[in-house]
Amino acid sequence: MRIVIIGGGPAGIEAARAAAPHADVTLVGDGLPGAWSPLAGRTWLAAAVAGERDLEAISARATRALEGWQARCAADLAALDVDLLPGRGRLDGSSAVLVEAADGSRSRLDADAVIIAAGATLALPSSLAPDGERVLAAEDLAGLRTLPARALVVGDGPIGFELCHTLSLLGTAVTWLVPEESPRSGVASEVDGYLTRLLERQGVRVSSNSRVTRLAARLDGVTAVTANGDRHGADVALLAFGRRPDLDAVGLPADKAAVDVYGQTKLHGVYLVGDALAPVAASVAQAQARAAALHAVRRSSEPADVHDIVLAFMEGPQAAKIGRLTTEGAAGSVTVSLADSLAAHVMDATDGFLTLAWDHGGRVAGAVAVAPRAAEILAPLAVARRAGLRIDELCAIFGPHPSVSELALIAARRA
Ligand SMILES: Cc1cc2nc3c(=O)[nH]c(=O)nc-3n(C[C@H](O)[C@H](O)[C@H](O)COP(=O)(O)OP(=O)(O)OC[C@H]3O[C@@H](n4cnc5c(N)ncnc54)[C@H](O)[C@@H]3O)c2cc1C
Repeated sequence: MRIVIIGGGPAGIEAARAAAPHADVTLVGDGLPGAWSPLAGRTWLAAAVAGERDLEAISARATRALEGWQARCAADLAALDVDLLPGRGRLDGSSAVLVEAADGSRSRLDADAVIIAAGATLALPSSLAPDGERVLAAEDLAGLRTLPARALVVGDGPIGFELCHTLSLLGTAVTWLVPEESPRSGVASEVDGYLTRLLERQGVRVSSNSRVTRLAARLDGVTAVTANGDRHGADVALLAFGRRPDLDAVGLPADKAAVDVYGQTKLHGVYLVGDALAPVAASVAQAQARAAALHAVRRSSEPADVHDIVLAFMEGPQAAKIGRLTTEGAAGSVTVSLADSLAAHVMDATDGFLTLAWDHGGRVAGAVAVAPRAAEILAPLAVARRAGLRIDELCAIFGPHPSVSELALIAARRA
């Protein structure tokens, strides 16, 4: 059986790992596998939180992180006998992929199944399009060689929160243009107000109801014009929105793009996963990719359950969420303070919380946390939720002491 995967991001690599033991797998990628566009931004955020200010050193670290990760991914795929084919892949019917290499040469791969993991692209009207100088996509932040004195962050979502956090920590005066009354992460609405207040304390100026319709770049700066006619000026504008799958580019007709629970499109044997299906997060992309790959090689009938995945954003503190809370139908919940764990006192970071929710059967329904490494605090709850564990069963489990991971179990006992 032959599987062709288009795209070497988190989804494409995971699909290759899952399928490789059961099929001949070719991964077609327009870059080295393991290239992950947010990686440099993540390194910048971590460095800013750690108090680093040397942009050259931060950039060098981001490059090392990328190279180390790509080498690791390449070795992993080689060990699994996955063929890597550099180039851009495009579907040719439902059982072949045309590949165009960087030098213009073309090849055609026949496939029993094709997994499209080509990610999403920035799709914005020309009045908002990045120019790489004054109007920057979020990923371009890491390419800055000097810090702007003033920046506009346009749009919210997790990327908007993170851009404001990184830049304000590094000393840039940030104006945040958000389209609604207040910033929304779209990941964990329960923590949006908390994190917005934190950013405001850091000096971020939030401009509500500021839906930007035009960005006018000049040699010495940029002006954002909003729907209500307001104008905001700065040295650069960073865009936190505008990503969409581009199915046309991979040759999937729009009327065939609807998917079943495994990501299989209306074209039998052609799967759509990760950001190419709908941009959410790398872990969601990986879960979808694995489910699709195993379905393609007829090894599993389990669809991806993305409710069991911890979604997280920000750092220092981090915000994370899993499942459903009481506002979303859970039967009850309890909230504990970060200060309830000894580790928080050791780290001298007691400002944060965790809310744990349960369903009518007393099983873990969901949780949300704001804390250092909030995602890791929720990780055991993800396992508990998946396993259908009840809160009272968690009470008898004790985590390493002192560690923030204890907080989930402390919440269970409190409940
Ligand atoms: C600024 C930013 C920060 C983010 N931070 C996080 C985070 O902290 N945690 C998190 O979980 N998620 C984060 N995300 C989301 C995350 O990046 C995506 O959900 C994830 O990368 C999706 O993985 P993917 O493999 O589906 O797509 P991608 O990572 O986009 O990978 C697709 C790959 O396919 C390649 N490709 C595209 N077309 C073709 C073609 N025709 N032929 C061959 N190759 C092709 C692309 O070049 C790319 O390498 C962030 C996103 C952004 C924009």
